[in-house]
Amino acid sequence: MASKFLKVSCRDCGAEVVVFSKATSVIPCTVCGATLTAPSGGKADLVGCTVIEALE
Ligand SMILES: [Zn+2]
Repeated sequence: MASKFLKVSCRDCGAEVVVFSKATSVIPCTVCGATLTAPSGGKADLVGCTVIEALE
């Protein structure tokens, strides 16, 4: 999977957020502020969200 953007769902509130798959900073949920992804080895580690779909 080489997609650059992922549509994810926050595990805490269920909000759908589009994140960059190689984000180098922590991305918080825009609704509840929970940490969705954290940088890990050059890609975003999905720590608080579930992938819904990969975007082109
Ligand atoms: Zn949330």
